[in-house]
Order: sequence, then C-alpha cells, then structure tokens
Amino acid sequence: MNAKKRELPGITLDPEDWSELRALGHLMLDDMIDYIEHVRERPVWRPIPQEARDRFRAELPREATELGAAYDEFSRFVAPYTSGNIHPGFMGWVHGGGTAVGMLAEMLAAGLDANLGGRDQMPIEVERQIVEWARSMFGFPAGASGVFVTGTSAANLLAVLIARTGALGREVRQTGVSAKGGVLRAYTSTGAHVCISQAFEISGLGSDVLRRVPADASYRMDLPALRRAIAEDRAAGLSPFLVVGTAGTVDTGAIDDLGALADLCAKEQLHFHIDGAFGALAVWSPELAPLVKGIERADSIAFDFHKWAQVPYDAGFLLARNGELHRATFASSAAYLRREARGLAGGSPWPSEFGLDLSRGFRALKTWFTLKTFGTDRMGAVIARTCSLAKYLERRVLAEPQLELLAPVALNIVCFRHRGNDALNAQIVVDLHESGIAAPSTTSLGGRLAIRAAFVNHRTQTCDVDALVDAVIRFGKERSARDQ
Ligand SMILES: *Cc1c(COP(=O)(O)O)cnc(C)c1O
Repeated sequence: MNAKKRELPGITLDPEDWSELRALGHLMLDDMIDYIEHVRERPVWRPIPQEARDRFRAELPREATELGAAYDEFSRFVAPYTSGNIHPGFMGWVHGGGTAVGMLAEMLAAGLDANLGGRDQMPIEVERQIVEWARSMFGFPAGASGVFVTGTSAANLLAVLIARTGALGREVRQTGVSAKGGVLRAYTSTGAHVCISQAFEISGLGSDVLRRVPADASYRMDLPALRRAIAEDRAAGLSPFLVVGTAGTVDTGAIDDLGALADLCAKEQLHFHIDGAFGALAVWSPELAPLVKGIERADSIAFDFHKWAQVPYDAGFLLARNGELHRATFASSAAYLRREARGLAGGSPWPSEFGLDLSRGFRALKTWFTLKTFGTDRMGAVIARTCSLAKYLERRVLAEPQLELLAPVALNIVCFRHRGNDALNAQIVVDLHESGIAAPSTTSLGGRLAIRAAFVNHRTQTCDVDALVDAVIRFGKERSARDQ
C-alpha cells in the first residue's frame, strides 16, 4: 500500500512558500535593526492615537490574514507606541534599554522553541551555565542553585517560600502555614519594594508577618531599629525567620548595610535574602562593588538581567545558597514527569524543580549572548557610567536655583524637584512625557512629590541629562507663568 495515500489532508502552520516568508523575515529584521539604530531620532514616548487602540479591539479572527498585512499593523500601530525604555531619554521607574544582540538572541530562542522545564537538552546546559556564572559573580558555594523567572517580583516570592520551608520544615507543603506560620516574623525596610509585601500575601503567611523597619536619613534600613524589633518579637514569643535587605531601593537607589545585616542574620540564625533587582549587578563594576559588600553572604539573592544588564524583557533570576532547601521547596513528582538515567527524560534535576513554572522559555539564551558578547567588564563600565550620569544630574540640580535635590544620590537614581508645590511638579513630568524629550517618573519622599530620574539605559548620555534639566526649568517657568 502506498503510505502517502493514507496521509490526512495537509493542515500545518508552515508556509506554502518559504521564500516569501524568508523575504518578509529579512525585512522585519532590517526594520527592527533600524528601529534600534535610530531610536534617538524619535520621541521617547508619544500618546497613543485612538485609531491604534481601536485596531486592537477587533473580533477574534476566524479567517487568516496575510503575514505582511499583520506586520503592517504592527509597524504602524504597535512599534511607535511603546513605553520608550530603549530610548536614551527614558529615565522612569527602573527599565533596561535592551540591545540588538539581545533581540537577535530572542529570535534564535524562538526558532528553537525550547521548553526549559526539563529533559536532557543543551538549552538547559545554557541555563546551568548562567547559574554557574551567577554563583561565581556573587561568590556563592558549590551546591547553590539558581533559576530564571519572569522578574525580581517572582524571584522574591520564591525566596520567601524557601525561607518559609527553612523555618517550618518541608511538611509546610502539606500542612500549610496556618498554626506555626502565624508566629513567624520577617523584617525589611520601609524603602523595600512593594513586591516583598505581596510575596508575603501570596505565600499565605500574610503581610502582617512582615515588619517594616524604618529607614535612616540615607534611606537605608535602620540597624538599631531592626535589632530592637527582633528582640521585641522574641520577647513576645514570636519567631523571627527572615530579613530582606535591599541592594538599590527603587526610590533612591539606597543600599542597606549588607555586611551588618549578614552579621546580624548569622547571629540570630535568620535567612538573609537580598532584593538586588538592579543593584546586585554593581558587582561587575570595580568602583561600585564595594557598595554591595556583604552580598556574598546572603542566603538568597533576587535580581534582574533585564534592568542594568540590558537583556530584553523578561529575565529575572533567583540565586539560593542552599540548593537542597530550594529544591525541597518546589520539587514534585508525577508519573508523566518520570526521570530516566539515559535518554531524553534524563538530565535531572530539572529547572522546573526550582520554581513554579513547568513550561519555561529560553531566557538563558539572550542572557548568555549578552554576557558572552559584551563581557562583564564592559557591562560593569556601562553600569558605572549610569551612576556617573546620576552624579552629573545631581551637580546640575544643585547649580540651578529653581531646582532642589530631595535625596542623596547613592547610585543611579536622582530625586529632585522644581521649586513649587506637588501639583506643579506632577504637571512638569506629564509635560516632559508628552513633549517626548525625556521620561522620568515620580515618587514621594518625606511627603513631597519628587521628579525621579533612574539611569539604567546604556544609551543615555550627558546631553540627555541636559535636555531633562533644561526642559524641567522651561516647563516649570511656563506653568508658573500660566498659574500667576
Ligand atoms: C524592579 C524592582 C523590583 C521588581 O522587579 P520586576 O523585575 O519588575 O518584577 C523589585 N525590587 C526592586 C528594588 C526593583 O527595582
């Protein structure tokens, strides 16, 4: 019998004409390289026209659309209206700027369509390489474990769960946290990111278990206050189990005294976790590394490759000192995930045993390409330069009588404002965004609204800082004149 004849009619998603797809693919690649190369010629951000939004409120398509037509919609209605974080004038929140290398690596990863949950495949060896590199970056021992996650929010959650397993034992996975969990106490500073408190909510421990220790005048966790809180809690019969330090707070870039926190945690036998979302990577810069001294003594570190390391979104990472405890917190068995010593189902342990995700993308590839092709010396220099830009902005703010500095510049973040009230400063920031000149964000410090510029993007230069300062002064003047 002819085997061919028994085949089902050909329904596949591969193109009939590969040459047409190839030509369009080359065009897309050229367009995106142009998009990155010429980013400076565009505004940082521009308001989204209604037509663009309307395009993406369409019916679920039953019929096919030509790839070229879909690409045209992308080019006209999506690509021009992003948040602008790849633009040198972007200074809001804490966003990386991406690189063309990262983009190409994403394309390669998508081509492989690798699922990094497990199994014996080289993509997992690439992720293991990054785990090893992370281990060496932070001086963690053999036996430490690491895993890619979406971002530091997810990594902090994993760390809280690991510390919980450490405190309550593996049984907590069956019994839940209810009885014994209620007496646990954890500590972080008031400057910590909101995702720390969310991690406690999600973990089932509840955010009441997390005590917010005041920050000092430099926005670092106040150590005497932390010591007092721990002593008070022990005296009240509670069980301190975790301290979360921050290397680079989101508001001001403050770095807790990590060495002192490590000493305290060792003495009190507490899990020492560090939220180092961006700041942890200061280890790559010889000038900045001393600021995060003590990071090598943490029990776990959460950080992002998608911020200071410029890897395209998303690429969060958790590193844990005690790999066994890490695995004991998450690993589960199931018949359909059975391991073998040989063959495709080998290669234990699998990354899925170290987190919440079974199916996982190949975040490791864009990270590997980035580290491999730039090297950590250059990455460290890029990071140090963002801090120099912050110092430059600080000098410019101090030199302008209309402007005032609101917090010491510890790292790469500058909080300042135009003299006047909160409303004026909020309006200036909106004016800046709509002008497309620069995109800082805002925060509140000591009850006052701050214009907040965080330098993360490797493309930002002093001319961008000058453009920001000049525009703040100009918009401030215009607004004040109008309100007279
Ligand atoms: C960005 C940031 C986070 C959150 O990280 P995501 O990658 O956005 O989830 C947490 N902590 C700090 C200090 C941050 O800067």
